[in-house]
Amino acid sequence: MKVLILGSGGREHALAWAIARSPRVTEVVCAPGNGGIAQLARCVPVDLKNIDDMIRLVEIEAETQAPLLTIVGPELPLSLGIVDALQSRGLRVFGPTQAAARLESSKAFAKQFMKRHQIPTAKYSVCTGASELEEAIALFHPPIVVKADGLAAGKGVILCESRTIALEAARGLFNGSLLGESSQQVVIEEFLEGEEISFLCLSDGAHVTPLLPAQDHKRIGEYDTGPNTGGMGAYSTDTMLEPQMSEWIMRHIAEPTIRGMAEEGTPFVGVLYCGLMMTPRGPEVLEYNARFGDPETQAILLRLETDLVDALEACIDGRICATELRWSRGASASVIASSAGYPGAYKSGFPISGLGSAAQVPGVEIFHSGTSRVGGQFVTSGGRVLGVTATAESLRDALARAYQAMAEIQFEGIYYRRDIGHRALGKKT
Ligand code: AMP
Repeated sequence: MKVLILGSGGREHALAWAIARSPRVTEVVCAPGNGGIAQLARCVPVDLKNIDDMIRLVEIEAETQAPLLTIVGPELPLSLGIVDALQSRGLRVFGPTQAAARLESSKAFAKQFMKRHQIPTAKYSVCTGASELEEAIALFHPPIVVKADGLAAGKGVILCESRTIALEAARGLFNGSLLGESSQQVVIEEFLEGEEISFLCLSDGAHVTPLLPAQDHKRIGEYDTGPNTGGMGAYSTDTMLEPQMSEWIMRHIAEPTIRGMAEEGTPFVGVLYCGLMMTPRGPEVLEYNARFGDPETQAILLRLETDLVDALEACIDGRICATELRWSRGASASVIASSAGYPGAYKSGFPISGLGSAAQVPGVEIFHSGTSRVGGQFVTSGGRVLGVTATAESLRDALARAYQAMAEIQFEGIYYRRDIGHRALGKKT
């Protein structure tokens, strides 16, 4: 079988790595991919913002003897309806339809859906115009969370210390001054306190099975300071969630979500990512994503012992409940190295050295996010450059391996957080 992955980040590198290990797979193609992915997959250009371009590519790749499975990595192609378009052409694809992906592509839809199905989440108000803002914001006590309705690459959530700041932020979303594009709807939300957990599941539309829970580190600065990023590191341990807590999340969040989507005629097939806040009241949903998270996927897939292709196909074929996922024991951690200036403006094109010796550290895999290859040399080509990911018996050992490998890697302006996993280590797990 041939597998085509749409996407170009560390998540797609980890997917390509896991898929290439499947004995059923004869070829891995990644579009557009990156310098690191090109080590284990054939990378072909594609515009992930252009649905016709993606359809054309998948149709060309399908014209070979081996059956083709397409896996959609990022949210944008899902929100454009790539899964619907491929399915209607009889092509096999893993990911939710455009309607099901609204759980991620519209925060207003997600909040209203959670309300309809009694899924725990922060109190909220959806505004459809700037004239509604003052009245809506008056109902909340600061800090207040203001969210753009649509996809905003992590930039659409503003945490506001006062009602005045919230009003200004929400107006900025409506008039386009904040994101460059004006929002049609804005969500005003209660601020939740607690620890965040990424709870990812696989769903076949009717059933849902959890992957390992993970924790991301969104802020650029150590000890969670500074602006939000795409994610500066993630880890997963066996002791992150008590079994009863996982069961509670399944029963009160994951299963009702999948049941609710099926009842509403938009069954969700794919990765359901529940971004949770573990509040004193219990877990509440901060957001849904309709795909694998980045960098959680790097940490999670390193511990997956089951054939990933079998698991993804079980979702497509409606038999995920008969598929047992097996994991290595212990822990894993992924530390992201970024370019100086990220998440603001940064420069690219700097040569990367030390990848070979870093890869020699036991238990380590290096997943590239923003690299390209110029004449046999890896160079930086993105804000997040690469993720050094390691497994071990304990989180402490996994982190020690990741940081040992990271110390070998050099490029101009390299930055990484040295405190990944600090919450778990503080709890002596
Ligand atoms: P989202 O894209 O909705 O997950 O928001 C991005 C980040 O903003 C989350 O990972 C949280 O760190 C933070 N956030 C979002 N909603 C809330 C909330 N209601 N209370 C506190 N923090 C939030």
